Amino acid sequence: MSKPVNNPKTREWQAMSREHHLAPFSDYQQLAEVGPRIITKADGVYLWDSEGHKILDAMAGLWCMAVGYGREELVEAAATQMRELPFYNTFFMTAHPPVLELAKAIADIAPKGLNHVFFTGSGSEGNDTMLRMVRHYWALKGKPSKKVIISRENAYHGSTVAGASLGGMKGMHEQGDLPIPGIVHIPQPYWFGEGGDMSPEEFGVWAANQLEQKILEVGVDKVAAFIAEPIQGAGGVIIPPDSYWPRIREILAKYDILFVADEVICGFGRTGEWFGSDFYGNAPDMMTIAKGLTSGYVPMGGLIVRDEIVEVLNQGGDFNHGFTYSGHPVAAAVALENLRILREEKIVERVKTETAPYLQQRLRELADHPLVGEVRGVGMLGAIELVKDKATRERFPSELSVGMVCRGHCFNNGLIMRAVGDTMIISPPLVINKAEIDELVAKARQCLDLTAAEVLG
Ligand SMILES: *Cc1c(COP(=O)(O)O)cnc(C)c1O
Repeated sequence: MSKPVNNPKTREWQAMSREHHLAPFSDYQQLAEVGPRIITKADGVYLWDSEGHKILDAMAGLWCMAVGYGREELVEAAATQMRELPFYNTFFMTAHPPVLELAKAIADIAPKGLNHVFFTGSGSEGNDTMLRMVRHYWALKGKPSKKVIISRENAYHGSTVAGASLGGMKGMHEQGDLPIPGIVHIPQPYWFGEGGDMSPEEFGVWAANQLEQKILEVGVDKVAAFIAEPIQGAGGVIIPPDSYWPRIREILAKYDILFVADEVICGFGRTGEWFGSDFYGNAPDMMTIAKGLTSGYVPMGGLIVRDEIVEVLNQGGDFNHGFTYSGHPVAAAVALENLRILREEKIVERVKTETAPYLQQRLRELADHPLVGEVRGVGMLGAIELVKDKATRERFPSELSVGMVCRGHCFNNGLIMRAVGDTMIISPPLVINKAEIDELVAKARQCLDLTAAEVLG
Protein backbone atom coordinates (compact mmCIF):
# COMPACT_ATOMS: atom_id res chain seq x y z
CA MET A 1 0.00 0.00 0.00
CA SER A 2 2.85 2.41 0.71
CA LYS A 3 4.83 3.90 -2.13
CA PRO A 4 8.58 3.36 -2.60
CA VAL A 5 10.87 5.81 -0.84
CA ASN A 6 13.47 7.50 -3.03
CA ASN A 7 14.58 10.47 -0.95
CA PRO A 8 17.18 9.32 1.65
CA LYS A 9 15.97 12.10 3.98
CA THR A 10 12.59 10.37 4.15
CA ARG A 11 14.28 7.26 5.59
CA GLU A 12 16.17 9.40 8.12
CA TRP A 13 12.99 11.13 9.27
CA GLN A 14 11.13 7.86 9.49
CA ALA A 15 13.91 6.50 11.70
CA MET A 16 13.61 9.55 13.96
CA SER A 17 9.90 8.89 14.18
CA ARG A 18 10.48 5.27 15.17
CA GLU A 19 13.17 6.09 17.69
CA HIS A 20 11.89 9.29 19.28
CA HIS A 21 8.42 10.48 18.35
CA LEU A 22 5.23 9.45 20.12
CA ALA A 23 2.52 10.45 17.66
CA PRO A 24 -1.11 11.25 18.59
CA PHE A 25 -3.86 8.78 17.60
CA SER A 26 -1.43 6.24 16.09
CA ASP A 27 -0.70 2.54 16.37
CA TYR A 28 2.96 2.71 17.40
CA GLN A 29 3.93 -0.70 16.13
CA GLN A 30 2.34 -0.14 12.75
CA LEU A 31 3.78 3.36 12.50
CA ALA A 32 7.28 2.01 13.24
CA GLU A 33 6.89 -0.64 10.55
CA VAL A 34 5.44 1.52 7.79
CA GLY A 35 6.88 4.91 8.77
CA PRO A 36 4.95 8.17 8.64
CA ARG A 37 4.27 10.09 5.44
CA ILE A 38 6.44 13.18 5.87
CA ILE A 39 4.70 16.40 4.82
CA THR A 40 7.25 19.07 3.98
CA LYS A 41 5.42 22.05 2.48
CA ALA A 42 2.07 23.41 1.40
CA ASP A 43 0.40 26.06 -0.72
CA GLY A 44 -3.27 26.88 -1.24
CA VAL A 45 -5.16 23.59 -0.95
CA TYR A 46 -2.11 21.42 -1.72
CA LEU A 47 0.52 19.63 0.35
CA TRP A 48 3.83 18.12 -0.76
CA ASP A 49 5.44 15.12 0.89
CA SER A 50 9.17 14.45 1.23
CA GLU A 51 9.06 12.28 -1.90
CA GLY A 52 7.86 15.24 -3.94
CA HIS A 53 4.25 14.08 -4.34
CA LYS A 54 1.62 16.81 -4.60
CA ILE A 55 -1.51 16.03 -2.57
CA LEU A 56 -4.91 17.78 -2.55
CA ASP A 57 -5.70 18.27 1.14
CA ALA A 58 -9.44 17.59 1.32
CA MET A 59 -9.24 17.58 5.14
CA ALA A 60 -7.88 21.14 5.51
CA GLY A 61 -5.08 19.96 7.79
CA LEU A 62 -7.34 18.71 10.57
CA TRP A 63 -10.50 20.69 9.71
CA CYS A 64 -8.65 23.92 10.42
CA MET A 65 -7.07 25.31 7.26
CA ALA A 66 -9.84 27.78 6.37
CA VAL A 67 -8.00 30.46 4.38
CA GLY A 68 -5.57 28.06 2.67
CA TYR A 69 -1.87 27.38 3.10
CA GLY A 70 0.81 29.93 2.26
CA ARG A 71 -0.89 33.13 3.42
CA GLU A 72 1.85 35.74 3.75
CA GLU A 73 -0.52 38.06 5.65
CA LEU A 74 -0.68 35.57 8.53
CA VAL A 75 3.10 35.15 8.52
CA GLU A 76 3.50 38.92 8.69
CA ALA A 77 0.93 39.27 11.46
CA ALA A 78 2.84 36.73 13.56
CA ALA A 79 6.25 38.26 12.85
CA THR A 80 5.06 41.80 13.57
CA GLN A 81 3.47 40.73 16.85
CA MET A 82 6.55 38.74 17.87
CA ARG A 83 8.73 41.81 17.41
CA GLU A 84 6.33 44.04 19.36
CA LEU A 85 5.30 41.73 22.21
CA PRO A 86 5.99 38.00 21.75
CA PHE A 87 4.35 37.01 25.01
CA TYR A 88 2.64 38.36 28.01
CA ASN A 89 -0.01 36.63 30.08
CA THR A 90 -3.58 37.73 30.61
CA PHE A 91 -3.74 36.63 34.27
CA PHE A 92 -4.06 38.88 37.33
CA MET A 93 -5.66 41.93 35.75
CA THR A 94 -3.41 42.36 32.73
CA ALA A 95 -4.14 42.24 29.00
CA HIS A 96 -2.65 43.33 25.68
CA PRO A 97 -4.16 44.86 22.53
CA PRO A 98 -4.36 41.72 20.32
CA VAL A 99 -6.36 39.67 22.83
CA LEU A 100 -8.84 42.49 23.40
CA GLU A 101 -9.25 43.27 19.71
CA LEU A 102 -9.75 39.59 18.99
CA ALA A 103 -12.39 39.18 21.71
CA LYS A 104 -14.29 42.10 20.14
CA ALA A 105 -13.86 40.73 16.58
CA ILE A 106 -15.30 37.38 17.68
CA ALA A 107 -18.21 38.99 19.53
CA ASP A 108 -18.97 40.97 16.35
CA ILE A 109 -19.60 37.77 14.34
CA ALA A 110 -20.96 35.50 17.10
CA PRO A 111 -24.72 34.98 17.56
CA LYS A 112 -26.65 37.64 19.47
CA GLY A 113 -25.93 37.75 23.19
CA LEU A 114 -22.63 35.87 22.95
CA ASN A 115 -20.23 38.70 23.62
CA HIS A 116 -17.49 37.42 25.92
CA VAL A 117 -14.56 35.15 25.14
CA PHE A 118 -12.30 33.06 27.40
CA PHE A 119 -9.18 32.07 25.42
CA THR A 120 -7.37 28.75 25.57
CA GLY A 121 -4.65 26.98 23.63
CA SER A 122 -6.93 24.38 22.03
CA GLY A 123 -10.46 23.10 21.59
CA SER A 124 -9.96 20.51 24.33
CA GLU A 125 -8.97 23.22 26.78
CA GLY A 126 -12.03 25.18 25.65
CA ASN A 127 -14.24 22.28 26.68
CA ASP A 128 -12.37 21.83 29.98
CA THR A 129 -13.00 25.51 30.60
CA MET A 130 -16.68 25.01 29.77
CA LEU A 131 -17.07 22.21 32.30
CA ARG A 132 -15.53 24.23 35.10
CA MET A 133 -17.34 27.45 34.18
CA VAL A 134 -20.73 25.75 33.92
CA ARG A 135 -20.44 24.14 37.36
CA HIS A 136 -19.10 27.36 38.88
CA TYR A 137 -22.04 29.24 37.30
CA TRP A 138 -24.67 26.93 38.78
CA ALA A 139 -22.99 27.05 42.19
CA LEU A 140 -23.12 30.85 42.06
CA LYS A 141 -26.80 30.65 41.09
CA GLY A 142 -27.43 28.70 44.30
CA LYS A 143 -27.87 25.38 42.49
CA PRO A 144 -24.62 23.56 43.25
CA SER A 145 -26.22 20.17 42.61
CA LYS A 146 -26.47 20.99 38.91
CA LYS A 147 -23.21 19.35 37.80
CA VAL A 148 -24.00 16.69 35.20
CA ILE A 149 -23.20 17.37 31.56
CA ILE A 150 -25.15 15.43 28.95
CA SER A 151 -23.26 14.66 25.75
CA ARG A 152 -23.71 12.19 22.90
CA GLU A 153 -22.21 8.88 21.92
CA ASN A 154 -19.57 9.18 19.22
CA ALA A 155 -19.20 12.92 19.82
CA TYR A 156 -15.72 14.42 19.72
CA HIS A 157 -14.89 17.13 22.23
CA GLY A 158 -11.11 16.77 22.48
CA SER A 159 -8.51 14.62 24.13
CA THR A 160 -7.83 16.06 27.59
CA VAL A 161 -9.40 14.14 30.47
CA ALA A 162 -12.51 16.32 30.41
CA GLY A 163 -12.54 16.59 26.60
CA ALA A 164 -12.34 12.83 26.09
CA SER A 165 -14.95 12.28 28.80
CA LEU A 166 -17.33 14.76 27.20
CA GLY A 167 -16.70 13.04 23.89
CA GLY A 168 -18.44 9.77 23.25
CA MET A 169 -15.67 7.76 21.64
CA LYS A 170 -15.54 4.27 23.11
CA GLY A 171 -11.92 3.72 22.09
CA MET A 172 -10.92 6.81 24.07
CA HIS A 173 -13.01 5.95 27.13
CA GLU A 174 -11.41 2.50 27.32
CA GLN A 175 -7.99 4.02 27.91
CA GLY A 176 -7.66 5.80 31.24
CA ASP A 177 -10.93 5.02 33.01
CA LEU A 178 -13.12 7.56 31.27
CA PRO A 179 -15.54 9.20 31.35
CA ILE A 180 -14.93 10.99 34.63
CA PRO A 181 -18.00 11.14 36.92
CA GLY A 182 -20.73 13.63 36.09
CA ILE A 183 -20.75 13.14 32.32
CA VAL A 184 -23.41 10.98 30.63
CA HIS A 185 -24.16 10.21 27.00
CA ILE A 186 -27.25 9.79 24.83
CA PRO A 187 -27.46 8.21 21.33
CA GLN A 188 -26.28 10.22 18.35
CA PRO A 189 -28.54 11.36 15.47
CA TYR A 190 -26.74 9.10 12.98
CA TRP A 191 -29.57 7.88 10.76
CA PHE A 192 -27.47 6.03 8.16
CA GLY A 193 -25.65 3.99 10.76
CA GLU A 194 -28.25 3.61 13.50
CA GLY A 195 -31.64 4.63 12.13
CA GLY A 196 -32.83 1.07 11.51
CA ASP A 197 -36.30 0.97 9.94
CA MET A 198 -37.27 4.48 10.98
CA SER A 199 -37.39 7.28 8.41
CA PRO A 200 -34.71 9.95 8.91
CA GLU A 201 -37.33 12.36 10.28
CA GLU A 202 -38.76 9.82 12.75
CA PHE A 203 -35.27 8.88 13.84
CA GLY A 204 -34.31 12.55 14.33
CA VAL A 205 -37.21 13.06 16.74
CA TRP A 206 -36.41 9.79 18.51
CA ALA A 207 -32.74 10.76 18.96
CA ALA A 208 -33.70 14.21 20.27
CA ASN A 209 -36.21 12.70 22.69
CA GLN A 210 -33.35 10.75 24.26
CA LEU A 211 -32.21 14.09 25.69
CA GLU A 212 -35.48 14.62 27.52
CA GLN A 213 -35.45 11.06 28.79
CA LYS A 214 -31.90 11.48 30.12
CA ILE A 215 -32.75 14.82 31.79
CA LEU A 216 -35.67 13.17 33.60
CA GLU A 217 -33.59 10.11 34.49
CA VAL A 218 -30.72 12.15 35.96
CA GLY A 219 -33.05 14.80 37.44
CA VAL A 220 -33.38 18.40 36.27
CA ASP A 221 -31.90 19.57 39.58
CA LYS A 222 -28.69 17.68 38.71
CA VAL A 223 -28.26 18.51 35.01
CA ALA A 224 -26.01 21.49 34.27
CA ALA A 225 -25.68 21.46 30.50
CA PHE A 226 -26.05 19.70 27.18
CA ILE A 227 -23.08 19.80 24.81
CA ALA A 228 -23.20 18.98 21.10
CA GLU A 229 -21.43 19.66 17.84
CA PRO A 230 -23.91 21.19 15.34
CA ILE A 231 -22.57 18.54 12.93
CA GLN A 232 -20.44 15.74 14.39
CA GLY A 233 -17.09 15.97 12.64
CA ALA A 234 -14.62 13.32 13.80
CA GLY A 235 -17.51 10.93 14.41
CA GLY A 236 -18.02 10.79 10.64
CA VAL A 237 -19.56 14.08 9.45
CA ILE A 238 -22.91 13.15 10.92
CA ILE A 239 -25.61 15.53 9.76
CA PRO A 240 -28.70 15.27 11.95
CA PRO A 241 -32.08 14.76 10.24
CA ASP A 242 -33.99 18.05 9.79
CA SER A 243 -36.30 17.11 12.67
CA TYR A 244 -33.46 16.87 15.22
CA TRP A 245 -32.45 20.41 16.19
CA PRO A 246 -36.01 21.82 16.37
CA ARG A 247 -36.97 19.06 18.82
CA ILE A 248 -33.75 19.55 20.83
CA ARG A 249 -34.57 23.28 21.06
CA GLU A 250 -38.04 22.49 22.40
CA ILE A 251 -36.60 20.22 25.08
CA LEU A 252 -33.93 22.72 26.11
CA ALA A 253 -36.55 25.46 26.39
CA LYS A 254 -38.56 23.30 28.77
CA TYR A 255 -35.79 22.59 31.29
CA ASP A 256 -33.41 24.88 33.09
CA ILE A 257 -30.11 23.68 31.58
CA LEU A 258 -27.38 25.33 29.55
CA PHE A 259 -26.79 24.59 25.87
CA VAL A 260 -23.17 24.36 24.74
CA ALA A 261 -22.36 24.19 21.03
CA ASP A 262 -18.95 22.75 20.24
CA GLU A 263 -18.17 24.88 17.19
CA VAL A 264 -14.54 23.78 16.88
CA ILE A 265 -15.19 22.40 13.39
CA CYS A 266 -18.39 24.18 12.33
CA GLY A 267 -17.24 27.63 13.50
CA PHE A 268 -15.75 30.29 11.20
CA GLY A 269 -17.55 29.51 8.00
CA ARG A 270 -17.47 25.78 7.42
CA THR A 271 -21.24 25.51 6.96
CA GLY A 272 -21.45 28.70 4.89
CA GLU A 273 -22.54 30.65 7.98
CA TRP A 274 -20.15 32.03 10.58
CA PHE A 275 -21.19 29.32 13.02
CA GLY A 276 -22.98 25.98 12.76
CA SER A 277 -25.45 27.34 15.31
CA ASP A 278 -26.40 30.09 12.84
CA PHE A 279 -26.86 27.46 10.15
CA TYR A 280 -29.36 25.53 12.28
CA GLY A 281 -30.95 28.52 14.01
CA ASN A 282 -29.76 27.33 17.43
CA ALA A 283 -29.11 29.80 20.23
CA PRO A 284 -26.49 28.24 22.52
CA ASP A 285 -25.33 29.70 25.85
CA MET A 286 -21.70 28.90 25.17
CA MET A 287 -19.68 27.98 22.09
CA THR A 288 -16.32 26.23 22.06
CA ILE A 289 -14.01 27.42 19.27
CA ALA A 290 -10.55 26.53 17.88
CA LYS A 291 -9.32 25.17 14.51
CA GLY A 292 -10.67 27.70 11.93
CA LEU A 293 -10.14 30.56 14.42
CA THR A 294 -6.49 30.76 13.32
CA SER A 295 -6.76 28.51 10.24
CA GLY A 296 -4.36 26.32 12.22
CA TYR A 297 -1.37 28.61 11.59
CA VAL A 298 -0.84 28.77 15.37
CA PRO A 299 -2.70 26.95 18.15
CA MET A 300 -5.59 28.78 19.78
CA GLY A 301 -9.02 27.94 21.15
CA GLY A 302 -11.62 29.49 23.36
CA LEU A 303 -15.08 29.59 24.82
CA ILE A 304 -17.63 32.24 23.84
CA VAL A 305 -20.04 32.95 26.69
CA ARG A 306 -23.52 34.48 26.85
CA ASP A 307 -23.94 37.84 28.60
CA GLU A 308 -26.32 36.52 31.30
CA ILE A 309 -23.76 33.93 32.38
CA VAL A 310 -21.04 36.55 32.59
CA GLU A 311 -23.33 38.70 34.77
CA VAL A 312 -23.49 35.81 37.23
CA LEU A 313 -19.74 35.14 37.04
CA ASN A 314 -19.16 38.84 37.75
CA GLN A 315 -20.66 38.30 41.22
CA GLY A 316 -18.44 35.29 41.95
CA GLY A 317 -15.00 36.61 42.86
CA ASP A 318 -11.99 34.97 41.18
CA PHE A 319 -12.59 32.33 38.50
CA ASN A 320 -9.69 30.08 39.45
CA HIS A 321 -8.89 28.81 35.99
CA GLY A 322 -6.57 29.73 33.13
CA PHE A 323 -3.71 28.69 30.90
CA THR A 324 -0.28 30.28 30.48
CA TYR A 325 -1.11 30.73 26.81
CA SER A 326 -4.70 31.97 27.28
CA GLY A 327 -4.99 34.76 24.73
CA HIS A 328 -1.37 34.40 23.55
CA PRO A 329 -0.58 37.67 21.71
CA VAL A 330 0.96 36.00 18.63
CA ALA A 331 -1.97 33.58 18.30
CA ALA A 332 -4.41 36.46 18.82
CA ALA A 333 -2.69 38.58 16.15
CA VAL A 334 -2.84 35.68 13.70
CA ALA A 335 -6.49 34.98 14.53
CA LEU A 336 -7.38 38.65 14.00
CA GLU A 337 -5.71 38.63 10.59
CA ASN A 338 -7.39 35.32 9.73
CA LEU A 339 -10.80 36.79 10.58
CA ARG A 340 -9.99 39.90 8.56
CA ILE A 341 -9.20 37.72 5.53
CA LEU A 342 -12.38 35.67 5.97
CA ARG A 343 -14.42 38.89 6.20
CA GLU A 344 -12.78 41.07 3.58
CA GLU A 345 -12.38 38.37 0.95
CA LYS A 346 -16.00 37.37 1.63
CA ILE A 347 -14.89 33.76 1.94
CA VAL A 348 -17.85 32.65 4.07
CA GLU A 349 -20.32 34.20 1.61
CA ARG A 350 -18.55 32.53 -1.30
CA VAL A 351 -18.77 29.16 0.45
CA LYS A 352 -22.49 29.69 1.02
CA THR A 353 -23.53 30.93 -2.41
CA GLU A 354 -20.99 29.42 -4.75
CA THR A 355 -18.45 26.79 -3.77
CA ALA A 356 -20.35 24.74 -1.19
CA PRO A 357 -23.42 24.25 -3.44
CA TYR A 358 -21.03 23.20 -6.20
CA LEU A 359 -19.09 20.82 -3.94
CA GLN A 360 -22.33 19.27 -2.63
CA GLN A 361 -23.73 18.81 -6.14
CA ARG A 362 -20.53 17.24 -7.48
CA LEU A 363 -20.05 15.01 -4.41
CA ARG A 364 -23.55 13.60 -4.76
CA GLU A 365 -22.66 12.35 -8.23
CA LEU A 366 -20.61 9.71 -6.42
CA ALA A 367 -23.82 8.17 -5.05
CA ASP A 368 -24.12 6.07 -8.23
CA HIS A 369 -20.88 4.24 -7.44
CA PRO A 370 -21.37 0.55 -6.54
CA LEU A 371 -19.55 0.98 -3.18
CA VAL A 372 -21.46 4.06 -2.08
CA GLY A 373 -24.52 3.80 0.18
CA GLU A 374 -24.99 7.49 0.87
CA VAL A 375 -23.37 10.82 0.13
CA ARG A 376 -24.22 13.63 2.50
CA GLY A 377 -22.83 17.03 3.29
CA VAL A 378 -23.36 20.60 4.35
CA GLY A 379 -21.18 23.56 3.40
CA MET A 380 -17.57 22.43 3.15
CA LEU A 381 -18.22 19.13 4.91
CA GLY A 382 -18.97 15.82 3.26
CA ALA A 383 -19.25 12.09 3.94
CA ILE A 384 -19.34 9.07 1.65
CA GLU A 385 -20.63 5.84 3.20
CA LEU A 386 -19.02 2.68 1.80
CA VAL A 387 -21.33 -0.33 1.94
CA LYS A 388 -21.65 -3.88 0.74
CA ASP A 389 -25.37 -3.48 -0.05
CA LYS A 390 -26.73 -0.12 -1.12
CA ALA A 391 -30.38 -0.97 -0.44
CA THR A 392 -30.03 -2.44 3.06
CA ARG A 393 -27.06 -0.23 4.15
CA GLU A 394 -25.22 -3.43 5.08
CA ARG A 395 -21.53 -2.87 5.85
CA PHE A 396 -18.52 -4.85 4.74
CA PRO A 397 -17.00 -7.12 7.41
CA SER A 398 -14.83 -4.92 9.61
CA GLU A 399 -11.73 -7.13 9.01
CA LEU A 400 -11.68 -5.84 5.43
CA SER A 401 -11.06 -2.28 6.71
CA VAL A 402 -12.57 -0.94 3.52
CA GLY A 403 -12.31 2.65 4.74
CA MET A 404 -8.58 2.30 5.37
CA VAL A 405 -8.11 0.63 1.98
CA CYS A 406 -9.82 3.59 0.34
CA ARG A 407 -7.81 6.07 2.39
CA GLY A 408 -4.60 4.34 1.26
CA HIS A 409 -5.57 4.62 -2.40
CA CYS A 410 -6.42 8.28 -1.89
CA PHE A 411 -3.10 9.07 -0.23
CA ASN A 412 -1.19 7.25 -2.99
CA ASN A 413 -3.08 9.10 -5.68
CA GLY A 414 -2.71 12.61 -4.39
CA LEU A 415 -5.83 13.09 -2.26
CA ILE A 416 -6.29 13.25 1.50
CA MET A 417 -9.65 11.88 2.60
CA ARG A 418 -10.11 10.57 6.11
CA ALA A 419 -11.69 7.22 6.98
CA VAL A 420 -13.94 6.89 10.05
CA GLY A 421 -14.63 3.18 9.91
CA ASP A 422 -16.08 2.79 6.41
CA THR A 423 -17.19 6.41 6.18
CA MET A 424 -14.93 8.57 4.00
CA ILE A 425 -15.04 12.19 5.08
CA ILE A 426 -13.89 15.50 3.67
CA SER A 427 -13.58 19.02 4.99
CA PRO A 428 -11.57 20.98 2.42
CA PRO A 429 -10.11 24.46 2.89
CA LEU A 430 -12.85 27.10 2.59
CA VAL A 431 -10.93 28.73 -0.27
CA ILE A 432 -11.09 25.66 -2.52
CA ASN A 433 -12.24 26.73 -6.02
CA LYS A 434 -14.44 24.95 -8.55
CA ALA A 435 -11.55 23.51 -10.60
CA GLU A 436 -10.04 22.09 -7.41
CA ILE A 437 -13.44 20.67 -6.42
CA ASP A 438 -13.58 18.95 -9.84
CA GLU A 439 -10.15 17.47 -9.16
CA LEU A 440 -11.22 16.35 -5.69
CA VAL A 441 -14.31 14.56 -7.00
CA ALA A 442 -12.45 12.98 -9.93
CA LYS A 443 -9.75 11.66 -7.60
CA ALA A 444 -12.34 10.42 -5.12
CA ARG A 445 -14.07 8.46 -7.89
CA GLN A 446 -10.77 7.02 -9.09
CA CYS A 447 -9.97 5.87 -5.53
CA LEU A 448 -13.46 4.41 -5.06
CA ASP A 449 -12.86 2.41 -8.28
CA LEU A 450 -9.50 1.16 -6.99
CA THR A 451 -11.10 0.25 -3.67
CA ALA A 452 -13.98 -1.56 -5.38
CA ALA A 453 -11.52 -3.52 -7.53
CA GLU A 454 -9.69 -4.57 -4.38
CA VAL A 455 -12.62 -5.50 -2.13
CA LEU A 456 -15.18 -6.68 -4.68
CA GLY A 457 -12.45 -8.67 -6.48
C1 LIG B 1 -10.74 19.00 17.23
C2 LIG B 1 -11.92 19.14 18.08
C3 LIG B 1 -11.81 19.41 19.45
C4 LIG B 1 -10.49 19.44 20.15
O1 LIG B 1 -9.66 20.47 19.73
P1 LIG B 1 -8.09 20.36 20.04
O2 LIG B 1 -7.58 21.68 19.56
O3 LIG B 1 -7.57 19.18 19.27
O4 LIG B 1 -7.94 20.18 21.49
C5 LIG B 1 -12.96 19.63 20.17
N1 LIG B 1 -14.16 19.57 19.59
C6 LIG B 1 -14.32 19.30 18.28
C7 LIG B 1 -15.69 19.29 17.69
C8 LIG B 1 -13.20 19.05 17.49
O5 LIG B 1 -13.35 18.73 16.21
